[in-house]
Amino acid sequence: MSPALRCYRCGDRYRDPLRVRCDCGEPLWFEPDAAAFGWEDCRAYDGAWRYEPLLPIDRPEGVARAAGGTPLVRSEGLDDAAGCRVYVKDEGEHPTGAYKDRGSAAAVPHAVAAADGAVGTVSYGNMAMSPAAHAASLDRECVVLVPDDISPVRLELIGQYEPTIVRVDGDYGALYGDALDLSDELPVRFLVSDAPARISGYATAMFEICEAFAPDAPDAVVLPTSSGGFASGLWRGIRDLEAAGRLDDPPRLCLVQTAASDPITRAFESGATDPTPIAPDETGETIAHSIGNPGPRARVRALAAVRDTAGAVVSVDDDRDTSRAAAVPVDGGFCVEPASAASLAGATRLSERGEIDDDDAVVLVPTGTGFKELGTGDASVATERTNRSALPERLASLLGAR
Ligand SMILES: *Cc1c(COP(=O)(O)O)cnc(C)c1O
Ligand SMILES: [Zn+2]
Repeated sequence: MSPALRCYRCGDRYRDPLRVRCDCGEPLWFEPDAAAFGWEDCRAYDGAWRYEPLLPIDRPEGVARAAGGTPLVRSEGLDDAAGCRVYVKDEGEHPTGAYKDRGSAAAVPHAVAAADGAVGTVSYGNMAMSPAAHAASLDRECVVLVPDDISPVRLELIGQYEPTIVRVDGDYGALYGDALDLSDELPVRFLVSDAPARISGYATAMFEICEAFAPDAPDAVVLPTSSGGFASGLWRGIRDLEAAGRLDDPPRLCLVQTAASDPITRAFESGATDPTPIAPDETGETIAHSIGNPGPRARVRALAAVRDTAGAVVSVDDDRDTSRAAAVPVDGGFCVEPASAASLAGATRLSERGEIDDDDAVVLVPTGTGFKELGTGDASVATERTNRSALPERLASLLGAR
């Protein structure tokens, strides 16, 4: 049976396991009874389900079993660019290429067990593919609401799982609220960015990081932030481990936004607790499209997470992000999407400002793979040419052998 849903802000509890928001307006989360948890209680499962005692459901069937267990790699090549001792938690190594799978692995089976009918999602990016894949593996219908002008590449990526894709003409940003209403009226459960079971799944990333560092912890975790869902989940993980007495000195949560749309950064800098959404005509274009979000749904909770952990919020512009995006594969060997490279660009910023020291152990979280973005036929890649008989000599000269 699921633990109670609780509001982090007013403390109210709810018993309906599919409820998403508190009467006060803030998103809810599951609060497991973590007090008795120790690392020795981890299950002998791969990945996220190791932490089954802290999750709202038991290990399900299907692709959900592939969630978590992503590599945490000490990446010295990135130290200079970041200005600290870099560890990379490569969340792109998930079935659909993004950390979203941790959340879907918990939320889709949770919804399937709780109610008949379809599951749904409102997204044309990683949040569309991930629930579609998880629903497919449980033979449950999935409805994906996408904008009418969606690109063919994205349709192809989502379409491979054969969900019911509905193109919606109109104010796409307003569909979050519509989706929660539709979940009450129709046999479909929309699993939005801050669905509580999703947040529980995200917490497993923090469990993995802290178990790897135990009994110590990293100084900071730096991640790109859009809705604030992942940040909420990492904070949930910190709170569970603190309740369990496994974390004396929790890592600082440092969020990175794109300067094109950064309501959480603005609130952090002004000292506000409630970030104000950015007006559509003030929202810029960005290559980091996964984090270009003028009205993050979990913005208040994400900012609370930052304040509670003495973290920070910074914004990076596309120029800086692009230069760092290049450093991630060149100096680190990781293939990431632009929004994910923002974690490195953000760490650079923080160390320039003296908020991160060069001997700090900092976990950068590339949230999504770059494989979906590349392969569009960019002809500007530098190459050398030769014929076969001249190859030995040419190669010798390229390698600097005389
Ligand atoms: C969804 C997503 C984000 C933003 O995460 P939130 O939970 O919405 O803050 C960042 N990076 C990638 C690759 C994503 O898919
Ligand atoms: Zn509340």
